[in-house]
Amino acid sequence: MNKPGGTIGILGGGQLGRMMAIAAAQMGYRCIAFTPENDHVVGDVCHDVFVNHWDDTLAMAAFAQKCDVVTWEFENVPVAALGPVEQLLAPHPRALETAQDRLDEKRFVEGLGGRAAPFRQVDSRYDLSDAIERIGTPGILKTRRDGYDGKGQWRIGTTRDAEGVSLPDTPCIYEGLVQFDAEFSVILARSARGEKVFWDSTANVHKDGMLHTSTLPAGQLVEVHVEAARRLAGQVADALGYVGVLTLEFFATTNGPVFNEMAPRVHNSGHWTIEGAATSQFENHIRAICGLPLGDTRTISPGMVMTNIVGADADSAAHWLDDPSTHLHLYGKREAREGRKMGHATQLLWDR
Ligand code: AMP
Repeated sequence: MNKPGGTIGILGGGQLGRMMAIAAAQMGYRCIAFTPENDHVVGDVCHDVFVNHWDDTLAMAAFAQKCDVVTWEFENVPVAALGPVEQLLAPHPRALETAQDRLDEKRFVEGLGGRAAPFRQVDSRYDLSDAIERIGTPGILKTRRDGYDGKGQWRIGTTRDAEGVSLPDTPCIYEGLVQFDAEFSVILARSARGEKVFWDSTANVHKDGMLHTSTLPAGQLVEVHVEAARRLAGQVADALGYVGVLTLEFFATTNGPVFNEMAPRVHNSGHWTIEGAATSQFENHIRAICGLPLGDTRTISPGMVMTNIVGADADSAAHWLDDPSTHLHLYGKREAREGRKMGHATQLLWDR
């Protein structure tokens, strides 16, 4: 167990690390972060920040020296860079390896009995034509690695569209487009002893490939699938020997839940848990990686809507506070670039 008072290392410098560090500070931990980005947003709430390239082994070793346990908030940390912190890592890096490659991830989840959209590996134009012939259109071409928030994805409506797509110079997969009724996620925390707790599943609405809102109650279209989706997510966590918070995203379809992707970390669709659940995803992640008992995940209000604040909308974000049941989070990003997640607002609905 890493007792409160110890030092937690966070790989990555984004808002997820920032919210993790806030939860950790509340329990008396001190956080230090490692990030290659100069414009990180963890500095305001971390004791120290190492700004170094991932492959700077000496810096990573110096970082390791200062930490009792190391976790990540960014899932594309190159696994090869983790040597110096390997013994301190929670969750185990096998979760990163699995989740960093869409092809491996889907095969892994299918191996456990999950169902994904039909997919084929695409390494060449021939592969793409072959995939389209077998799976059909519409579909989506996705890079296997490094995609997030809809980036590295190309929708293909017809076989003709495919001819106009210039293949990226990196391995891809082609997926059939799923006709879904709704999207939802399962977020769980698994302790070092294998105990698992789940938060309520929100209905997630995306805009341009990026999460826009997460809502509770999620509604019948989602609720009927939650039990099966939790079962699968639990199996994934057990198979990975996972310690910490893990997220699986699903499509709700008339034929049951279809697995979309997993994130081996706290998740945007779980930000509402800061005010909307008895224990937040960030606090339970810290508890899990430090070997502490997990907290109650119950939702505390009858309803809730979390809305992402993106780009220039951050400039007028104070309006969210006109409603006394809404909590505003801004991540301290200086530049409100288009499509950049700047913050979120969680509205607790007490009168439903
Ligand atoms: P991803 O980064 O793979 O989660 O994709 C971002 C969003 O694009 C998803 O949340 C869906 O809204 C949409 N999307 C991705 N893949 C598919 C698919 N195979 N079928 C339908 N919609 C998809």
